[in-house]
Amino acid sequence: MGSDMEVQFLPGVGPKRAELLRKELGVSTVGELLRLYPFRYIDRSTFVRIADARPDMAYVQFKAKVLRVDLIDRKRLSVWVTDGSGEMEMVFFKGIKWMAEKLKPEAEFIFFGKPTAFNGKMNIVHPEVDPVPEGGAAKATGGAMTGVYPSTEKLKNAGITGKMMTRMMEAALDRGLQAERETLPEYLVRQQGLVPLHFAMRNIHFPKDMVSLEKSKYRLKFEELFLLQLSLLKQKYVRSRNTNGILMPRVGEAFNKCYEALPFPLTGAQKRVITEIRNDLKSGLQMNRLLQGDVGSGKTMVAVLTALIAIGNGYQACIMAPTEVLAQQHFKNIQKFLAPTGVKSALLTGSTKTSERREVHAGLEDGSIGIIVGTHALIEDNVMFRNLGLAIIDEQHRFGVEQRSKLWRKTSAGAPPHVLVMTATPIPRTLAMTLYGDLDVSVIDELPPGRKPVQTIHATEGKRPALYNFMKEQIRQGRQVFVVYPLINETEKLDYQSLEAGAEDIMNKFPFPEYKTAVVHGKQLNDVKKFNMDAFAAGRADILVATSVIEVGVDVPNASVMVIESAERFGLSQLHQLRGRVGRGSEKSYCVLMTGHKLSKESKHRIELMCATENGFELAEEDMKMRGPGDLEGTQQSGLPISLNIASLAKDGLILNAARECADAVLREDPTLSLLKNQPLKDELRKDKYQIKDYSKIS
Ligand code: ADP
Ligand code: MG
Repeated sequence: MGSDMEVQFLPGVGPKRAELLRKELGVSTVGELLRLYPFRYIDRSTFVRIADARPDMAYVQFKAKVLRVDLIDRKRLSVWVTDGSGEMEMVFFKGIKWMAEKLKPEAEFIFFGKPTAFNGKMNIVHPEVDPVPEGGAAKATGGAMTGVYPSTEKLKNAGITGKMMTRMMEAALDRGLQAERETLPEYLVRQQGLVPLHFAMRNIHFPKDMVSLEKSKYRLKFEELFLLQLSLLKQKYVRSRNTNGILMPRVGEAFNKCYEALPFPLTGAQKRVITEIRNDLKSGLQMNRLLQGDVGSGKTMVAVLTALIAIGNGYQACIMAPTEVLAQQHFKNIQKFLAPTGVKSALLTGSTKTSERREVHAGLEDGSIGIIVGTHALIEDNVMFRNLGLAIIDEQHRFGVEQRSKLWRKTSAGAPPHVLVMTATPIPRTLAMTLYGDLDVSVIDELPPGRKPVQTIHATEGKRPALYNFMKEQIRQGRQVFVVYPLINETEKLDYQSLEAGAEDIMNKFPFPEYKTAVVHGKQLNDVKKFNMDAFAAGRADILVATSVIEVGVDVPNASVMVIESAERFGLSQLHQLRGRVGRGSEKSYCVLMTGHKLSKESKHRIELMCATENGFELAEEDMKMRGPGDLEGTQQSGLPISLNIASLAKDGLILNAARECADAVLREDPTLSLLKNQPLKDELRKDKYQIKDYSKIS
């Protein structure tokens, strides 16, 4: 237990401010206040010369004298200051009266803030203003570094400024720290070389020096990630102890026949993943594995071989896809691999005819059908299996936990089927470890050989004539071209305008009947959309102008060029997904990223990365670093099970690895955390925030 003392009893707080702290920052007790960490530190001992300040500096601190104070239009206070090297304007839109009184000409202050360029000059809007302390530089308690805490407009208006926060923290440490119990067992603190909790708490708020700060940060990040992983892994341990898995000790004849007839050798990554799956299947525990791999990395092959292991052990397997089209595609694709094995397979979707359906049902019940491919129909229907041993699910996002658990009841195999979930949305490993912390994750990080890489080129408006010539050349060679416009917001008029203008330009420069252009966007009637899509897919149109909502999974191997307009408006994952639409055939393919001339630093970085790598995982990692895990595509819905206070999944991958290994070791020795030495951990995991149900995504 930590300090439950309410913050309102700290000096200078009181009930009103306490209520605001609770509402704005979720802080009610002193213990919670102590867990509100600075998100950055200011070294208050160094000053920048005004002449050296540049708008790309993050934060600067001047010691400067007020030159003049002007109130402009009764709403903007302009304060010119100088430090002898130059002059700069400080601007205030709020607290004008107070500032005007405080900032008298000739008086010297310390100004702190972010310089921005405005009308060719630099200024700082709403700088922090401090008096110059006696004896020169400002010194915070302990060291020269002062923490900056999260704040809101409301808090500032209520007088809870940075300085007030600092004072509250001092009081909180004084009165509350003793009650904060060490969260980690002594033996782990020692073994992991961590600093004790009290040291970390003191130094995270008032760092004695850089080394103490770094050690304290590490300790608190480790603790946070460790406890999270411990709670996730504990569920996994409990589940595997309570759930028997179907034992599949053999590889079996069907597998071997298929393997020997493969027209290509498996990639190293495919082999590794199959070994991982094999080990699960013969372990006697239920498999719950997530298989990640870019489009075209050969997941289907892995799925087929896994299904054949189930067959070889006398069980049935099902493969489920999110849409009817994808189910049909899977079914068609696996036939050639199953041919040499003699294993009977069938397709079951919403549009399977009644007579056929009856036959399939019978085949599943008597076990004559070994592998069934289908959609939701597989689980919604009154389908029964003789002995379903394995469920393979393509694209995890669309299958709910509930639907999966229905599978368990469909079989008389005596234990729940093994589960393999496949996804083509690359999720960085650190994120996967947390989102699917109780799943095992396998990654195919290698494309089959012989695939021609997609050449990615960045171009601006001036290159458009050259681009059009290039497109004409490709079309002359019989290829097809995608031109995609961003449609970030379905309702945004501007997006449609640029699409319409772009489509018109294309139709002018690529006149009918020499060239045929199809246009597809979300505002069209479904019939029209389908007609135009089909025309392109069947090769009746050379160019498809579309919004970014082109159907998922559209497969046009003959398309060799992907032009992405206003590419700077797309996120990395989205650019990568779009690029994945070309390079599926045998011809060399190209992706052209069209952007404006002026790019923000971040957009430039994104475009450069796209040109440099085709590796979806590398891009997903970078995307996460730039945007934070919450914004990652495909993960918004799922969200993180627990919001992190200090650690970052994007930046603290190494600490996460160490924390996970440590959590695993603890649970291997003591799965229920019953040993006396692990009592602190058991106590921690009892806290509300670790009582999360069902975030495993799989049952
Ligand atoms: P995914 O399902 O991951 O998108 P697929 O399994 O559909 O990828 O594989 C894409 C293509 O690559 C298919 O035509 C498949 O036959 C082929 N393929 C799979 N594995 C290999 C391999 N090891 N060597 C060569 N081609 C492969
Ligand atoms: Mg596939």
